[in-house]
Amino acid sequence: MRLAVFLPELLRSLFKKPNTVDYPFKKLDVPKDFRGTPFLHPEICIACRACERDCPAEAIEITSVVEAEKKFKMIIHNDRCIHCAQCVDSCPTNPVKAMEIDHLFETADFDRHNLKMEWEFVRALPKKEPKPAAAPPKPEPPKTEPAQ
Ligand code: SF4
Ligand code: SF4
Repeated sequence: MRLAVFLPELLRSLFKKPNTVDYPFKKLDVPKDFRGTPFLHPEICIACRACERDCPAEAIEITSVVEAEKKFKMIIHNDRCIHCAQCVDSCPTNPVKAMEIDHLFETADFDRHNLKMEWEFVRALPKKEPKPAAAPPKPEPPKTEPAQ
């Protein structure tokens, strides 16, 4: 009785394409906005620490290495990262963000310490916003003769 109920569906499925892929031998392309693993562009980081402050998982650690040389070290603990991309949103560098997130999702490892990424860098200088051009002076209103 039960087989009779399932048999048509079973036969239909035999000739349908599968809805899954044969992972890990085949992989799907992730969507454009997929949040993978955060990484730093050290050459443009101004060491403002906004990413460290706003990371909800406390996965970012920034320390000063040589104070006088403005040398810093950033560690991203990917074993703690929840891939929310808040660090990218908080990064103020313009037009390119010093913090970015890639499309990597296969970051599992047997040792959590292998998931640590670190950079040592000299702090970049913040780019100054160009001043808006001064408005042209307003023309003087025409002088009117006093009425007699
Ligand atoms: S993606 Fe989210 S959790 Fe991961 S480092 Fe950035 S702010 Fe922290
Ligand atoms: S990555 Fe961006 S937010 Fe983080 S310290 Fe560098 S400039 Fe600041």
